[in-house]
Amino acid sequence: MAGELCDSCVFCKIIRGQIPCHKVYEDERVLAFADIGPLSEGHCLVVPKHHEQFFHRLPEPYAAALGPAISRVAAGVVDALGVTDYNIINNNGERCGQTVAHVHWHIVPKGEDGSGLCLDWRALKDVDGEKISEYTQKIRDAVGKR
Ligand code: AMP
Repeated sequence: MAGELCDSCVFCKIIRGQIPCHKVYEDERVLAFADIGPLSEGHCLVVPKHHEQFFHRLPEPYAAALGPAISRVAAGVVDALGVTDYNIINNNGERCGQTVAHVHWHIVPKGEDGSGLCLDWRALKDVDGEKISEYTQKIRDAVGKR
């Protein structure tokens, strides 16, 4: 059951069948296909059939459908290509590298040749336990109000 789709985004056009894709999996609420600009062989995208840029704004049935679909497609990539290591990543917003404004999760195998996702994971140096406790409380309160 497709939710609301937009007229302009490339993933809505793929979901509608207006643009072709290399499909690997589909169910009522999710479509998965090969990324056209793969970071490594087997790089796939898992996309909800509802247009929304940000994951936290996705209607719950679509958010809930993503978990099992991502797991299933990741298992397929592992089984089919003999992949052992892979990243699963979902970029939200331009500053996080999002180029297509429709929620999508990347499954990116790590190639033995080093291909795949390159992370520049830099932990903050000036955040202590007190600071973590402070923002954790705010998040807990906000989560509780949802
Ligand atoms: P992001 O940078 O997280 O928004 O990722 C968008 C991804 O969509 C990129 O990895 C693109 O290669 C991929 N992409 C864009 N257009 C297509 C398309 N027509 N079919 C498959 N993948 C696409």
